[in-house]
Formats: sequence, C-alpha cells, structure tokens
Amino acid sequence: MSSPIVAVVGRPNVGKSTLFNRIVGDRIAIVEDQPGVTRDRLYAHAEWLNYDFRLIDTGGIELGDAPFLTEIRAQVDLAIDEADVILMVVSGREGLTHDDEVVAKMLYKCEKPVVLAVNKVDNPEMRSEVYDFYALGMGEPHPVSGSHGLGLGDVLDDVVAHFPDEAAEQDDPAVRFSIIGRPNVGKSSIVNAILGEDRMIVSNIQGTTRDAIDTRFVTNDDDEFVMVDTAGIRKRGKVYENTERYAVMRAMKAIDDSQVVLMVLDAETGIQEQDKHVAGYAHEAGKALIIVVNKWDAIDKDTHTMTDFENLIRQDFKFLDYAPIVFVSAKTGQRLDRLPQMILDVNANHQKRIPSSHLNDVLMDAIAINPTPTDNGRRLRVYYATQVAIAPPTFVIFVNDPELMHFSYQRFLENQIRSSFDFSGTPLKLIIRQRK
Ligand code: GDP
Ligand code: GDP
Repeated sequence: MSSPIVAVVGRPNVGKSTLFNRIVGDRIAIVEDQPGVTRDRLYAHAEWLNYDFRLIDTGGIELGDAPFLTEIRAQVDLAIDEADVILMVVSGREGLTHDDEVVAKMLYKCEKPVVLAVNKVDNPEMRSEVYDFYALGMGEPHPVSGSHGLGLGDVLDDVVAHFPDEAAEQDDPAVRFSIIGRPNVGKSSIVNAILGEDRMIVSNIQGTTRDAIDTRFVTNDDDEFVMVDTAGIRKRGKVYENTERYAVMRAMKAIDDSQVVLMVLDAETGIQEQDKHVAGYAHEAGKALIIVVNKWDAIDKDTHTMTDFENLIRQDFKFLDYAPIVFVSAKTGQRLDRLPQMILDVNANHQKRIPSSHLNDVLMDAIAINPTPTDNGRRLRVYYATQVAIAPPTFVIFVNDPELMHFSYQRFLENQIRSSFDFSGTPLKLIIRQRK
C-alpha cells in the first residue's frame, strides 16, 4: 500500500534539487487528472514505468547555518532512515571532490542500495568524465543532466530495480489512520490515550523496518486498526528530526500511508496559520478526514462554545467541509471512545461505490430542480455519470461541452450527490468529460 521511498543525497550544488524537480515534474505533465499534487522541495510523489514512488531531497531539510559535516550527516541519516533506495548525486562538471568522498564514506555503512548519478553531463562529449567516479565504490556511475533531462531513464531503471518486493499486505482488514497537526496540539497525548485503553490489544507490527513504526490494535468489537507512524509522533532525537520541514515531511508521508487522517486542532490556542498548511496537504492527499479538536477540557464553555468553534473551523477550512468534527480531551479521555467508530465510518464512505443507475437518478433529479446553465445561448447538457474509482470516490460526468460546466454548478451537483448518499468524511472528485 505504501510506495517505496527514494532519497536524493549529495554535497551542495551538484544539482539534487534540479533532478528532484525534473523527476517529479515529468509526472505532473503525464497524469492529467491528478488533484493538485503537493510539490515541496523536500518530499513529493513521482512515477517511473509502472512504479509509483516517493522522492525525498535530503538537501531540502535546511538546517540553517550548520557546518558542512553536520549538514551532510543529517542528510545521509535522513536518507538511511527513510529510504528504500538512495540516489547519490555528484557533478561531472566539477569532477570527483573530497566532499563526494565524505558522502560516499557515510553511505558505505548503510545497508540500503545506492545508485550513483553523475549530473551536469549535458552533452555526449562529457560522458567520459563519469569514469572517475568508479573510484567512489558505488557501482556504475550513470551520466545525467538535470537541466536538460538527459539520462534520467537509465538511472531510474536502476533505482526501481532495487525496490523491495510488494509486501503481501493486500488483504489486511485493518484500517490505517494517522494523527497529524502542528506541534503541541496533543498528538502524542491522543496516541497514548487511545493505546492506553485496556480494552485494546496493542502490538507493533513486525516485518520491514519501516512497518515497525506503525502500531496495530484491535478494539473490543474486533475492529482492527493500524496507527501509522506512531514512532514519528513520539520520538525526537537526531538533528534533522528537530527541523520544521522534517515534521512536515513526516506528516505528508504518514498521510500517504493512511486511509484515514485525523487532523488535530488545539481548542486552547485556536486555529493558527500552521494549522491551515497541515489542513492543505491533508486535503490534497484525497484521504478520508476527521477534524479532532483536542484540549476541550481546558476551555470555559457555555451552550454556544462548540457551535462557535465549529463555525470558525468551517470558515477557515472551507475546502474541508466534508470532514466531521469531534471535540475531545486527551487529558480526561472525553469522547475519545468515539474515534474508532468514526474512523470506520469515514473509511467506509471513502470506499463507497454508487451504482450508476442510482447516481444518474440523482443527477437527473438535480437537473430538474436546478436547470443547467447556458453560456451565449448554449446550454450545458449532462448525459451520463459513472463512478470510476474509490478512495476517494471519483465520478466522471459526460457532458456536451466541459467549458459550459461552471464551478458553481459543479458544486451544486456535488452537493446533490452528497445529500443523497453518505459521503461524510471523504472528498469527492468530479471529472467533467466531453461525450465523444
Ligand atoms: P543542489 O544544491 O544539489 O540541490 O543543487 P541545485 O539543484 O540547486 O543546482 C546547483 C546548480 O547547478 C544550479 O545553478 C543549477 O542550475 C545547476 N545545475 C543543476 N543541474 C545541472 C545540469 O544538469 N547541468 C548544468 N550545466 N547545470 C546544472
Ligand atoms: P504533540 O506535540 O502534538 O504530540 O502534543 P503533546 O501530546 O506532546 O501535548 C502538548 C501539551 O499539551 C502537553 O503539555 C500535554 O500535556 C498537553 N495536552 C495534550 N492533550 C491535552 C488535553 O486534552 N487537555 C489539556 N488540558 N492538555 C493537553
């Protein structure tokens, strides 16, 4: 379920970020119907042949003014801890440097496969430059040019060849969820409160090293859950783990590995700018989502407090209007017992399939109440709709001319679908297509 991770490492200025953007950027051109894929210099999705993978540019971790050795140590540690395959980048223009050797030495000890790319080989005459890099002991050096997009195919072939075999996790009945939010909203406290309940059996998943950070538990009702990246929420140790960008990367990764995301807000401090960033990437990932307002014990309440807070959330997170909100306290345990059932419910909605006949009945009724818009005398005609995917539920609506489908009318149709079927907690994707 979780795609492999490739980390790009190398001394500064060899072109890591150029390569990163090139590898990530190509995909965006190819996959047209993808919702706004998060592009961050540190972490992004990529694709090569039939492989989906995730790319980390360790140079994007940004320690500030740390000395070279600290900086490179942090990058290599990050790569070793997170990646399935490491892509070491050097520069054919500058040739083999002492700093390259420093990076290579740090990588010798790791057991992850390393693929070597010699960047800035912008033309064929320069290809002979790559032989010097055999001296690094990292195997065959692949000439590439990040600026010109040359040689990427060969190096990516080598990268994907090292991906671990698909784990046989396909039929896992457990629902995978993650808990995200800015620091101090109470994520660890919620984790501890949930796992501390004696009615639950807890075990850390054995298997690959990456799975060991997930926690599996079973409720009294025999519902199985995997809390993704429990360790990431709890521990803070290495230099890179204390950076803001690492926390963001970790959250994005946890979201990717989940079916359901619990986004935690702090009732005491209210909604802050950073909460909006977190909400933004939670939404972009297209996962089922629940908004959890924590520390509900800590504020003075009257009969309006909850509604007022709810209104604030709806106002600040308009794009998350589908997400249910629950007010909890990790300290007193208030309403935490509702979370398992809520997770199951939104997950079911996220995976819901609507038969075409029902869907079309709803759309035709909607059009009867609120006729389709016209533009310059031309009327939008909606012919037929069908659900083409789940998680999130994705509908293709065939029309005479997609240009005539205005945002507000599309919104109306989505609302009609939502009022006819329970899609609470899940985003919906509507794709408007011209009927051929
Ligand atoms: P990073 O520090 O390793 O992430 O390196 P950057 O991606 O920021 O690139 C450093 C410099 O090298 C920039 O000025 C890039 O324009 C340049 N550069 C990157 N890739 C290539 C390449 O393939 N050929 C050439 N000639 N220059 C490149
Ligand atoms: P994290 O950084 O999001 O993992 O947040 P923590 O779980 O470490 O909590 C941050 C602080 O908030 C700690 O001092 C907690 O004791 C406190 N805290 C967490 N949950 C609650 C809660 O429900 N009520 C109150 N009053 N304090 C809480």
